[in-house]
Amino acid sequence: MNSGTPTVTPLQILKTYFGYDSFREGQTEIIDTILSGRDALAIMPTGAGKSLCYQVPALLLPGITLVVSPLISLMQDQVKSLNEAGIHAAYINSSLTEGQINKALSFAARGVYKIIYVAPERLETASFLSFALHTPISMVTVDEAHCISQWGQDFRPSYLKIIDFVEQLPGNPIISAFTATATEVVKNDIARILKLKNPNIVVTGFDRENLYYQVEHLTGKQKDIFIQNYIETHPNESGIIYCATRKNVDTLYEKLLKQGVSVTRYHAGMSNDIRKKSQDDFIYDRAQVVIATNAFGMGIDKSNVRFVIHYNMPQSMENYYQEAGRAGRDGEPAKCILLFSTQDVMISKLLLGSKDFEGMDFQEIEQVKHQDSRRLQLMEGYCMTTSCLRNYILEYFGETTHQPCDNCGNCHQEFEELDMTLDAKWVVGCITEMRGRYGQALVIGTLLGSKKARLKDIGATSYNCYGQLENRTEADLRLLISQMIRMGYITQTEGEYSVLKAGNIADLQNKNTKIIIKKFKEKEKISTTKKHKTPFKKDSFSASTESSSTDSTATNSSHNSALFEALR
Ligand code: ADP
Ligand code: MG
Repeated sequence: MNSGTPTVTPLQILKTYFGYDSFREGQTEIIDTILSGRDALAIMPTGAGKSLCYQVPALLLPGITLVVSPLISLMQDQVKSLNEAGIHAAYINSSLTEGQINKALSFAARGVYKIIYVAPERLETASFLSFALHTPISMVTVDEAHCISQWGQDFRPSYLKIIDFVEQLPGNPIISAFTATATEVVKNDIARILKLKNPNIVVTGFDRENLYYQVEHLTGKQKDIFIQNYIETHPNESGIIYCATRKNVDTLYEKLLKQGVSVTRYHAGMSNDIRKKSQDDFIYDRAQVVIATNAFGMGIDKSNVRFVIHYNMPQSMENYYQEAGRAGRDGEPAKCILLFSTQDVMISKLLLGSKDFEGMDFQEIEQVKHQDSRRLQLMEGYCMTTSCLRNYILEYFGETTHQPCDNCGNCHQEFEELDMTLDAKWVVGCITEMRGRYGQALVIGTLLGSKKARLKDIGATSYNCYGQLENRTEADLRLLISQMIRMGYITQTEGEYSVLKAGNIADLQNKNTKIIIKKFKEKEKISTTKKHKTPFKKDSFSASTESSSTDSTATNSSHNSALFEALR
């Protein structure tokens, strides 16, 4: 391999072909590693610039670089921009006819291309292998390498076979792998399954300083109004709104369309052509906003996305970080706002419950389920925390943090304290009366004295505790309960139908024990009855929650909330 000093430097390549003046964090180290002939694994956040880390060395290495990539659209976009930069690149995937593939391969065999993108499945075909065996290949790059791990979010079984292909190649190519997923398991899986040899593993910081993180606790109706207001007050900003289900996408899309918003949509239930058109409308700024499921976005390089709003809570922090990370790729300030309601937790549990476990044995399925449930809990923790949101994210990805960032919704909130010691005793009393058979919604409904039929059905209306905390809000009680769970006074079973049980309550009897809840200070309320056109205050973040809180949560104080609706 040509590992000597190249006559052309990586920096010259960067300037000449890509038009940038300097490398970003991590890029130089990865490029130098590859050019010295060593395997590399780069873990860098979305938008950090991973592509350049293999594209620049690909132009300096003698043979071809094969890039394994999971999505056709991703390959098309990358090849297009490489070609525009004057670099000979091609892709070989199922979007081409047999004839086009043969033509591309014969061009490739003659050394026309420096970089070739392929789907992992392609490596298993005889024609591709025969081409690869007779053509000098200097490097195999695995993009979105987390797809190799069952513990990652987007497991692709065909990624497991990449190494079988590489091992047949005569030239002992360098392997480089790239992902934004930082968890230890996934990282180890990548290195192990790709059999990386003494790899240089480069992990760059996960902080995206230009992103402002924010969580709002809202009911369904309030969410719609929030979004409508947000778009109205940010008319020139490009944004993505993620929904948990296709149905949500369609409903919100219709609503915004009626209101005259320049909007498009994207989900897997649409035909390829229409989806592609939607994506292009958004990318080329013909539509201001795209409403999408998480099918949208992998590899999409639109630099000027100013906001990413999540209409529902995602299923994991990994997902959230990836999706929110599509904002502000140009380094300019951008906002990542998560609209949370209790129903989101239920939706997520249902979605996880319908997950496809094909090819896994019983033990593996159990492990995956356990992990999913854990991930979901930690995602919920993000929505509930009253501490710095940025620090929560960074700590989740294993970074040590120091000061609160002063650049997120929680850092800009004011708090008040509420003594809920007596209420806590009623909560325990209620759980005891229910003999640990019901979940949080019914406990709260009972304490509030809700008129819901379900409470009558289970006999809760005749409990001692029924209506004892009727002067509290649902939000306060949710806060209290989540704090009590953390303190061990209550335990919550895992799974789709989790119930509350009394935990270690001895300490509660102690008269010195105080249970203090930290709440967000009351803010201007979002009215769900009349449409108000008032723009948000200067920072545009003030118009949403009623009373939420600190260490946990939340907000809609209506006893009739979505929580109960979902239970009927
Ligand atoms: P990732 O794959 O890490 O999510 P990309 O490789 O798609 O990110 O790069 C994101 C954006 O950053 C692209 O628009 C790319 O052109 C830009 N970029 C990458 N490296 C640099 C650099 N050194 N200077 C300026 N812009 C860069
Ligand atoms: Mg990428």
